[in-house]
Amino acid sequence: MLEIKNLHAHVGDDETEILRGVNLTVKPGEVHAIMGPNGSGKSTLSYILAGKDDYEVTEGDILFNGESMLEMEPDERAAAGLFLAFQYPIEIPGVATMTFLKTALNAQRKARGEGELSTPEFMKKVKEKAAELNITMDMLKRPLNVGFSGGEKKRSEILQMSLLEPKLCIMDETDSGLDIDALKIVADGVNRLRSPDRAMVVITHYQRLLDHIVPDVVHVLSRGRIVKTGGKELALELEKNGYADYVGQAA
Ligand code: ADP
Ligand code: MG
Ligand code: MG
Repeated sequence: MLEIKNLHAHVGDDETEILRGVNLTVKPGEVHAIMGPNGSGKSTLSYILAGKDDYEVTEGDILFNGESMLEMEPDERAAAGLFLAFQYPIEIPGVATMTFLKTALNAQRKARGEGELSTPEFMKKVKEKAAELNITMDMLKRPLNVGFSGGEKKRSEILQMSLLEPKLCIMDETDSGLDIDALKIVADGVNRLRSPDRAMVVITHYQRLLDHIVPDVVHVLSRGRIVKTGGKELALELEKNGYADYVGQAA
C-alpha cells in the first residue's frame, strides 16, 4: 500500500538532508510504529507524506498503491485515501468544527464520485463517532482547534479520521499531551479503525501509546534513517534501554 524507497529530503532553503535514505513498506491491514529520538526526522517524514509546502524530496520515491505520490497535491493525496493526523493540529478561526468536518467529508465523497450526505445523514454519523470519542456537540460548534486543549485537538483529529475512513492513516505523536484517560479514548478510536484493507503508521517518541495500539512492526528512525526494524517487543526494549544504542548508528 505504501512503499517508501530511498527517500532523501530537506526543508526550505536549508540544504541539510533531514531524511537520508528512508525505506519502508507497509501492507494493507498492517500497523507500523515509527519511533525515534527528538529531531530524528519523524515529523519531517509525515509532512513529506502529506505533501506540505517547503518539504522537498531530493531523491527516491513514495508509492501509494503502486503510484508515485510525489507529484500529487495534498488534496489529491487525501482524495486518494491518505490521512495525516498532525503533531500540532492547525487552528481554523471562524470555521466551526462541525462545518469543517462536513466540508472535508463531502469534498472527499465528491472526489470518490459519491454524492453529498444530507445534513441529517451527516449529523447522525458525526454524533455517533463524536460520542465514541467523548466529544460534545458543544465542542463541535467551536472553531476548529481554537482554544482546544491538547487532548481535545487529538480527539478532533481522530474524529476527522473516523469520518473520512482513509486507506492509510499516518499519526504523528498522537499521544503527546494526553493524560491516560484521553490516551485510552484516542487509542480505542484508532483501534476501531483497524481493518484488513486499511494501514496505519503510528509515529511516537514514547512506548506507552503502543500498549494500547499494538503494532505489527516497529521501526527506529535515527538521524534520518531507519536503523532497526522489529516486532512489538522492540518498543519495549526501547522503553527499557532508551535510544542510546541506536543514535550512533546512522552517522
Ligand atoms: P522529530 O519529529 O523526530 O522530532 P523533526 O522531523 O521535527 O524531528 O526534525 C528533524 C530535524 O529537522 C531536526 O534537526 C530539526 O531541527 C530539522 N527541521 C525540522 N523542521 C525544519 C525546518 N522547517 N527548517 C529547518 N530544519 C528543520
Ligand atoms: Mg520533535
Ligand atoms: Mg515530531
